[in-house]
Amino acid sequence: MDWQTLCNDEAVRRGFWKAWKDSQPDADNAHEEGGFVVAGDQGLEIVRWPVGDLHEISTPSHAGCKIEGKEIIASFHTHPHSGRGYFQEPSVADVKLVRNDADLKGANYIGEFVFSFARTYLISPDGQVQDIGRTAALFGPKENRNVDQSTEFDHRSRRAFRCPRNDDGQRTSQAGRCRRAAIGRYGLANGRRWRSLAS
Ligand SMILES: [Zn+2]
Repeated sequence: MDWQTLCNDEAVRRGFWKAWKDSQPDADNAHEEGGFVVAGDQGLEIVRWPVGDLHEISTPSHAGCKIEGKEIIASFHTHPHSGRGYFQEPSVADVKLVRNDADLKGANYIGEFVFSFARTYLISPDGQVQDIGRTAALFGPKENRNVDQSTEFDHRSRRAFRCPRNDDGQRTSQAGRCRRAAIGRYGLANGRRWRSLAS
């Protein structure tokens, strides 16, 4: 399965959107959320990870690229901070955790999605990272999301203020400074099972 097919699955879209919403983007208690997309009896299903912290989340064990007896097709986590000092794109630690994980090398595993405010990235099993498009577009039409519209984030205005990108979502030089600030502020990764936005 390619990522386009996976992202067009309604159960997957809803699951991605719910994880993003649950991570309370840019709220005071914004935190990472994540999970696996697995092959269930009736089609693709989402198995969520335990709730993450401010800028990191741990991955439950998944021996043989399976969890709860089901084959893992993809994994995902959110980057719910648009502010200065936080990565939007996958961190070096994020990439290494996918590339070096022998249990994320199933024949049908396509990689790990990382959702940020503007863009969504896909880390391939071999560690390649690609920008696969606007996050809002991947979640599908708004009318299909079973959520309270009033809670929807206004990422454009926040991003424009805190971590500028141009209209195509490309990083500006100022966003580049955000990245360096993140490295300086939080240091390098310090735990095998922990993912950090800022390490
Ligand atoms: Zn991350």
